[in-house]
Amino acid sequence: MRIARFTTGSDPRYALVEGEPGREELVVITGDPIYTPVQPTGERVRLDDDGVRLLAPVIPRSKIVGVGRNYADHAQELGNEVPSAPLLFLKPNTSVIGPDDPIVLPDWTERVDHEAELAVVIGKVTKDVTPERALDHVFGFTVANDVTARDVQKSDAQWTRGKGFDTSCPLGPWVVPGLDVDDLRVQARVNGETRQDGRTSQMIFDTAYLVSYASEVFTLLPGDVILTGTPAGVGPVDHRDVVEVEVEEIGVLRNPVVRR
Ligand code: MG
Repeated sequence: MRIARFTTGSDPRYALVEGEPGREELVVITGDPIYTPVQPTGERVRLDDDGVRLLAPVIPRSKIVGVGRNYADHAQELGNEVPSAPLLFLKPNTSVIGPDDPIVLPDWTERVDHEAELAVVIGKVTKDVTPERALDHVFGFTVANDVTARDVQKSDAQWTRGKGFDTSCPLGPWVVPGLDVDDLRVQARVNGETRQDGRTSQMIFDTAYLVSYASEVFTLLPGDVILTGTPAGVGPVDHRDVVEVEVEEIGVLRNPVVRR
């Protein structure tokens, strides 16, 4: 099952996504599926119809929890040690954009990187959950780009500015519940050229452990998102680039890059 959030010009609605890539149909459902059972309204909308636009599949209710250096090859490429415990940071929910929305490069940074990541969408109020029970608290999985102002991440003592700016958290194209995420391919392409190509099996701390660990720090609310870290191959994006992040079994998240 794939669950999208979309608009035809008015209020956002949710839908099940059916069909092959390029021919998807949206089966409109009532309510927000994180909170209410999935129930089709009977309305179907073609995704490629004029005026139909996918939105970020979730707007985190309180926070996005990021995890730094969770793939050894990526820690190494930036000259960092592999952490002995998950390295957590926060991105505000105002950083979220959806599929095809522009990543806007701030004028205070010279170097903005893509980071392809599997994203976890929390489904229940979660506090101090064990790794064994953690996935019971997950609504589903989506694709994220943990866009990072690399120069500012290095020059500031905190990562807040480097990773928290507006448009720095593209999410989408939809949420897939019930997915086995232990070994999925995670890729980033810039203008069609592959830059990152890893697998979730290379994570230092797996998804269940990250949910558990984060829940010992914060109460996780339904709709909160955890970014699970990025494989090696991060690199810069610039004005007029198009960056695609793909996670196997979920889909492709595509965003243009602009400097205004
Ligand atoms: Mg990251």
